[in-house]
Amino acid sequence: MSIINTHSHVYDEAFDSDRDEVIQRAVSLGVGKIILPDIDSSSRERMFSVANQYPDLCFPMLGVHPTSVNENFQAELDAFYAELPKRTIVGIGEIGIDLYWDKTFLEEQIEVFSQQVEVAQKRNIPIVTHVRKAFNETYKALRDLPSQNFKGIFHCFSGSKEEAFKVIDMGFHIGIGGVLTFKTSHLDEIVKAIPREKVVLETDDPYLTPVPHRGERNEPGYVALVAEKLASVWNCPVEEVAEITSANVLSIFTL
Ligand SMILES: [Zn+2]
Repeated sequence: MSIINTHSHVYDEAFDSDRDEVIQRAVSLGVGKIILPDIDSSSRERMFSVANQYPDLCFPMLGVHPTSVNENFQAELDAFYAELPKRTIVGIGEIGIDLYWDKTFLEEQIEVFSQQVEVAQKRNIPIVTHVRKAFNETYKALRDLPSQNFKGIFHCFSGSKEEAFKVIDMGFHIGIGGVLTFKTSHLDEIVKAIPREKVVLETDDPYLTPVPHRGERNEPGYVALVAEKLASVWNCPVEEVAEITSANVLSIFTL
């Protein structure tokens, strides 16, 4: 069995004391590949150093996270553009719009998101989109772009069934993580309703830890728990979940 984890921040400081063990544990739990989403200029060096250490396992992206967009957004964008020609990346992310904490920089978030989507389109590489309390704004920003040719993931999807189908209609896949294991979540109804070819797995570690580890630090190997839960929702063996979702990832990313 080989699971692809499409969203792990294993380069985060939360793993500084035991990163190698965490990565070995993920491999022993069946994780074959891990995609690393970028945050901003402050985390980038650490991300690329982990990717260099595990070149066959960890695949980095480049992007400015929406919560890193503030009055200094132009400096962050400049840093992003400066890295682009220097690095081997598999996608642009994580990028998007987040209005959960703060709506002050909505215009700037739209601008930074749109520019980065266009970079991905020009290079024909996927995007990984972070949306929090901003589905309509994100949808409109994408619809306003001159090219409607999209590929990538709406990561940690938290919208409605209707929104899931809108995202799929645009060409995107749906990223499913630990929230699927929460009793209060309605994600199981969504993953039952949408085509299986549109589902990919993730952890978003160190956050959003799946049951039975809720409250602890999340880690990339726990994607196996998400796969198990999805197997029970789909009523199929976990190996089949690994096979389907890995093939889905490889239809989007060149790894
Ligand atoms: Zn993330």
